[in-house]
Amino acid sequence: MTKIRTRFAPSPTGYLHIGGLRTALFSYLYAKQQKGEFIIRIEDTDRQRLVEGAEKKLIETLSILGIKSDTKIERQSERLEIYQKAVDVLLKNNSAYYCFCSSERLEKVRKEQEKNKQVPKYDRHCYNLAEEEIKQKLSRAEKYVVRFKIPDDQTIKIEDKVYGQISIKSSDLDDFVILKSDGFPTYHLAHLVDDHEMKISHVIRGEEWVPSLPKHILLYQALKYTPPIFAHLPLLLNPDKSKLSKRQGDVAVEDFLAKGYLPEALINYVALLGWNPGTEKELFMMSELIKEFSLEKINKAGSVFDINKLNWFNAEYIRLIIQQKGQRYDQLVEQIQKLISHYQDRAEDLLKLFGSRINNLDELISQSKFLFSLPQYPTELLIFKKSDLEKTRLGLNLSLGTLGKVHGSNWQAEKLKLVLDELISDHPLNPGDVFWPIRVAVSGSDKSPAPNDIMEFLGKKESLERINKAIKKFN
Ligand code: GLU
Repeated sequence: MTKIRTRFAPSPTGYLHIGGLRTALFSYLYAKQQKGEFIIRIEDTDRQRLVEGAEKKLIETLSILGIKSDTKIERQSERLEIYQKAVDVLLKNNSAYYCFCSSERLEKVRKEQEKNKQVPKYDRHCYNLAEEEIKQKLSRAEKYVVRFKIPDDQTIKIEDKVYGQISIKSSDLDDFVILKSDGFPTYHLAHLVDDHEMKISHVIRGEEWVPSLPKHILLYQALKYTPPIFAHLPLLLNPDKSKLSKRQGDVAVEDFLAKGYLPEALINYVALLGWNPGTEKELFMMSELIKEFSLEKINKAGSVFDINKLNWFNAEYIRLIIQQKGQRYDQLVEQIQKLISHYQDRAEDLLKLFGSRINNLDELISQSKFLFSLPQYPTELLIFKKSDLEKTRLGLNLSLGTLGKVHGSNWQAEKLKLVLDELISDHPLNPGDVFWPIRVAVSGSDKSPAPNDIMEFLGKKESLERINKAIKKFN
């Protein structure tokens, strides 16, 4: 049996898009499941679009998410002779030809075709150049590209694992460029030669490549290569069903990581974009995905990227990690330490206080600000809707006295709650006359973690100071 080999072939032109992560993940999962190899290959032949540092960042980001290449990472820019050899083969067997047309001429032809309502296509002007003429032009170092000659009157049939059968007439295709005037191959040629050389058995990539597939099939035929198996992944959509784009929110994996989304959550969520296990199960760690993934269960319909669902997964994983402690817990604490430059020693306490309330670490940072600096709040906020000024004052005053008597070593959330419960039952007070104003006093807000939990975090001195401040607001 042939060894399963898949690849992820990013162009280093920017950040890692969520769609790119999905392609990488599906390729990775399939290779791992089949005990095969997964390869990362850098497609950097479009020299104008290169972004400095993008390659390093892509590889780093994938690695944080647990996706690593099983072989040395190759760059296409370092493999130019290999593509040139393929170009020579194609020139020799008349599947390709030199084209010396200037961009001005091409533009003119295109305009003419548009005017006549024809599909714009290269008019094969250079296809009929005499051998002698070509030699002369080459010796004069005239600029050229090499084009692939689309065979006439063929029907190209392709079987795609996701899309099923695709069939197209060769007359609908254009003689596309395979070697550019800067000596670099185009994507069409380079990726295909590499997939062949690297013995890729399954090409898993985004749906945007389906229209190019017939061209590729013809290239495979002309080069006498056996094509791999193809699986094109469905589009990712915004909630309004338009193509997923940056305009409607984050799409860069780096940005999600920087906001404190966990690798586990991103992987789990992205795995379910276009694939489903066929069961109700939703939580999958990487090892489970490797076991259960299958190309057959990829659906054709586009999948909507739903940030709320990603938030849900992230919240689930935060809780799971807190519950299990262990190495991932330590890493999470470290990550929080990096996000809070001051108060680093409080990272673990923050996680304890907010772990069950947040979707991501960004929210932890914004929600916990009040702990380090009490915000301004209106005096009326201290009074619960079923309470009044008098009872609130009494509640706060009595609490201040009682809490003042709690020994520092007993300053723990459960004990503080007991003390306050007791105070309520000993006096003509309701919980709303005590817990409500204390919550507002220690947090400056009516929405926060439980007041006794906050007080444990703040410590005795700071808690009493904040309650005292609240009492003074009434004077
Ligand atoms: N370099 C191409 C891209 O970034 C790869 C497409 C493919 O997987 O063949 O989209």
